[in-house]
Amino acid sequence: MPEFPLRIELELSCVCNLTCSYCPRRYVDDLSGFMDPALFKQLIDEISNYKDRVIVLHRRGESLLHPDFEELLYYCKGKHKEVQIATNGTIMTDSKLEAMVATLSFVSFSIDLPERIKDTRGVDYEIVAANIEKFLQRNNGRVETQVSMVKDNDVTDAQVSQFTNLWKGKVDRIRVYEEHSSDGDYGSLNRDRGERQPCIMPFYEMLIFCDGMVGRCNHDWDGEPIGDVNKDTLHKIWYSAGLQDLRRQHEALTITDGTCKNCDSWYPAEKNQGTGTVAEGISKKL
Ligand code: SF4
Repeated sequence: MPEFPLRIELELSCVCNLTCSYCPRRYVDDLSGFMDPALFKQLIDEISNYKDRVIVLHRRGESLLHPDFEELLYYCKGKHKEVQIATNGTIMTDSKLEAMVATLSFVSFSIDLPERIKDTRGVDYEIVAANIEKFLQRNNGRVETQVSMVKDNDVTDAQVSQFTNLWKGKVDRIRVYEEHSSDGDYGSLNRDRGERQPCIMPFYEMLIFCDGMVGRCNHDWDGEPIGDVNKDTLHKIWYSAGLQDLRRQHEALTITDGTCKNCDSWYPAEKNQGTGTVAEGISKKL
């Protein structure tokens, strides 16, 4: 196990401006608030004591809504191996865009097909596509880029090809995610992944919700907190009894943790979740 998590998710915002039909936010009560800038900087400083860490600046909300978004991005600049973000691409002001191009290493735009996006995400395709095009133009290849869509039960293979053709040659990677958590169990894919294997996430990453509570991974939407960075350092929580116990559960495959036990998006190995398809481009990121 690494002495410190290799990948750290910092949830800048748990507020979102969209209510997408397939988003697990619909199962979580009271998602509001932004990460306190002082807490964010404290975490960034602690992480920068460790070499080659990957920072992910989103989780359950739209990060670009954070009132200090640009300032927080510039604070990260040059301190970490990678800084990644996902956004719905709806609020790309010039100053946000400039900050993203100047500081990020990877950005993923979560969108949908032109004929579906109004129904699934409640936004106009032309507006979001124009924002992404503007980013790509300004970016000029500096930040690695991805567009992604969710393949719910209504999406056909022909529509996946259509999506791929729309963005092929414009972005570095096109990714199609299966819908998950549709039955209310976070990470549940409703498909057989074969025999369960230990998940590497408790040995690999930490998630910090916007209020400072510590979760498990990108499939933790409102699990029992494992720690609180308002009280303890990331390093202390990484070696805490709660996380050690979760690791033991995974190693022994006797998983009682309320979030992990019903999740079938477990990662058997680094960069191998077995979920989501790279439709085009090279897969360098989780
Ligand atoms: S089993 Fe699922 S919820 Fe638990 S750590 Fe792994 S990916 Fe996250």
